[in-house]
Amino acid sequence: MKQFVQKKLYKWSEWTLESKQMYINGKWVPAQSGNIREIINPYNREVVAIVPEADREDVRYAIRSARKAFDRGEWPHTPAADRGKKLFQVAERIDQNNEELARLESLDTGKTLVESRADMEDIANVFRYFAGLADKDGGEAVEPPIPDAVSKVVREPVGVCGMITPWNYPLLQAAWKLAPALAAGCTMVLKPSEITPLTSLKIAELMDEVGFPDGVVNVVTGPGASVGAELSESDQVDLISFTGGIETGKTIMRAAANNVKKIALELGGKNPNVIFADSDFETTVDYALNAVYFHAGQVCSAGARLIVEESLHDQLVEELVKRVKRIKLGNGFDASTQMGPLISEEHRAKVEKYIEIGKKEGARLLIGGKRPEGPEFEKGFFVEPTIFDGCDASMRIVQEETFGPILTIETFRTEEEAVCLANDSIYGLAGAIWTQDLSRAERVSRQLRMGTVWINDFHPYFPQAPWGGYKQSGIGRELGKTGLEEYTEQKHIFHNL
Ligand code: NAD
Repeated sequence: MKQFVQKKLYKWSEWTLESKQMYINGKWVPAQSGNIREIINPYNREVVAIVPEADREDVRYAIRSARKAFDRGEWPHTPAADRGKKLFQVAERIDQNNEELARLESLDTGKTLVESRADMEDIANVFRYFAGLADKDGGEAVEPPIPDAVSKVVREPVGVCGMITPWNYPLLQAAWKLAPALAAGCTMVLKPSEITPLTSLKIAELMDEVGFPDGVVNVVTGPGASVGAELSESDQVDLISFTGGIETGKTIMRAAANNVKKIALELGGKNPNVIFADSDFETTVDYALNAVYFHAGQVCSAGARLIVEESLHDQLVEELVKRVKRIKLGNGFDASTQMGPLISEEHRAKVEKYIEIGKKEGARLLIGGKRPEGPEFEKGFFVEPTIFDGCDASMRIVQEETFGPILTIETFRTEEEAVCLANDSIYGLAGAIWTQDLSRAERVSRQLRMGTVWINDFHPYFPQAPWGGYKQSGIGRELGKTGLEEYTEQKHIFHNL
């Protein structure tokens, strides 16, 4: 490990890490070990920032700070309306810093600047939504079956929250946790993915400007196996909210079991996009491509399993291939780029392994399946948008989350078969149905075992509606009213008059 050096590296941002390191107990601090990590731009492998590489000691300090802020601090007892006001201020700061945040996100993840800007607008709206919701639950009175008594049921903050987030939507996933937890009156330690910590550090700076009491918000940068593990194992943490891969989710669940910590898990998906022959062809094709290739397929709700009615198959496949050829790969900072690189060399190797698996399993590679050629693509972790036809549900490329730009195509003849195929998965995060038959749309949407079903659309989500998975896609819900309730405990107060 290198020693921490203060360095100004950002090329796209005014923000620097000079003297701003990790955010613990209201202060910017280096890792106690002095260790650091270089953050790489996946488009050209340039080092864009250097951040502290925390270890368990640093997290323990952050947990102690959050614990103290919860047990002895003012934040949990601040009137909910005032907590809401602070969150409105955070939203305003996000809006004011939209461009800088978006550039940091794109530098860190390789995603297009257009996508990152949209993410930042969504993030501000998430803060606004929970700001507005903060004081809306005044509890309820219930009628006790006992004379001369009253009962009320109130919600209280759950306590110290550990938040562990992935690299694909670094700030969005953090915001889905931070905003409701703060609205509820919790304190927290956020651990972003070790490879994409920049916007999480930047939002700590914005929150610092807004002025939360020391220890309410802590951001610790470091690896999952130590920093993340310490958060999940600690008996000083009351709840872990995790977004990431299924195997990590299971590890966190086991660790959390030791002290019966509450858990919220947002895990992977292998999301079916079911297209009936009567769908509006033009819209369906466009959305099918966007569903899977958005952010190079590195989206938990990516529509990676296309399940099409047999009679439409040939026409749809021909059009998909034609349009995939036109997808422009490149630097996310270039306005004409439609698809950026994958996040890392390691992740590209995983995606390429799945392409090989698909070929061996007998799926027909229609397009893509390799790295794009040309000087522009030499350094970045690119893989071409890829389509496999002739797939079936027994194949690993159909069942496993590749988290890359790979589309698999299966066919069906009857509605019943479509539903069976769509549900044939350990995952149950999201899926879509395309049809102009409204009764069928309603019927099928109720038969799909997943947390979100889109009819004649793909990907829309917003803070008002809950997000989360059936089956092994997770436990609990983010966003919506439930997203706030996740950060609360219910208390029954019985008063014998
Ligand atoms: P990951 O599981 O490898 O890592 C996620 C986070 O967990 C990182 O911060 C990592 O450092 C940490 N971590 C790793 N090992 C840990 C351990 N032993 N204990 C505690 N923390 C640990 O996932 P990833 O590769 O960063 O992200 C991709 C995955 O995230 C995909 O499976 C994707 O579907 C999922 N995801 C789900 C949603 C959703 O809403 N359901 C949203 C985005 C991403």
